[in-house]
Amino acid sequence: MAVRSVQTNGPGETESLGAQLAGALREGDVVLIRGELGSGKTTLVRGAARALGVSDPVTSPTFSIGHRYGGASVTVSHLDLYRLAGLQDEDPALLADYLGPGRIAFVEWPPDAEGELDGARLRVTLSHQGGDRRWVEVHDDGPAPENHRSPSENGGES
Ligand code: ADP
Ligand code: MG
Repeated sequence: MAVRSVQTNGPGETESLGAQLAGALREGDVVLIRGELGSGKTTLVRGAARALGVSDPVTSPTFSIGHRYGGASVTVSHLDLYRLAGLQDEDPALLADYLGPGRIAFVEWPPDAEGELDGARLRVTLSHQGGDRRWVEVHDDGPAPENHRSPSENGGES
């Protein structure tokens, strides 16, 4: 597992980091993003979605747990589970529309909930450093396991 930490000095830099991270993602991948309110989770997703070809405005989901956007070659899912404080009491089917083949999912998560979402490719943690500075830690767990993809797609892998 690779870990990388960077400081960003404004929202634009956090968007750029999101875009950079998006470059390594493939369909089926899930990115878990942790951090306090206002730490820049949605900002990072915005940059990533843009890099994946999403042209619609990326905004915080308010009346649902998530949004889905059409990207260049995948659907980009953006889930905000911050207020749910984890998934213990939620119906797993709630997530089915957002995760899986043909999709790359970004999931905003509270800072203190651990482990309820298995199989994340990247885990990103943002924290406030005063003013417009944020500390961003990126854990890369490597490519998504095969179970993220449909059986028909597994044959082409070596
Ligand atoms: P979250 O989704 O974690 O609640 P948002 O991305 O919605 O956070 O909001 C972050 C806010 O902080 C935005 O208003 C953004 O402009 C501001 N901001 C200031 N500096 C940064 C930075 N370095 N990275 C990200 N956002 C920043
Ligand atoms: Mg947010």
